[in-house]
Amino acid sequence: MKVTCLECQNEFDIETVSVGDTVECPFCGIELEYKGKSNEGKEEFEVIEEEK
Ligand SMILES: [Zn+2]
Repeated sequence: MKVTCLECQNEFDIETVSVGDTVECPFCGIELEYKGKSNEGKEEFEVIEEEK
């Protein structure tokens, strides 16, 4: 499936994910957690903030 990165807006392909899985953007390296489908049927992701 296609994911649009919330941080850098680049689009990349990932294997199918389950709710709660995390994927890493190959462009900026940020981690996104899959939240499931929204009411409109769109895939929803949320940025995982890393503590530094
Ligand atoms: Zn990115």
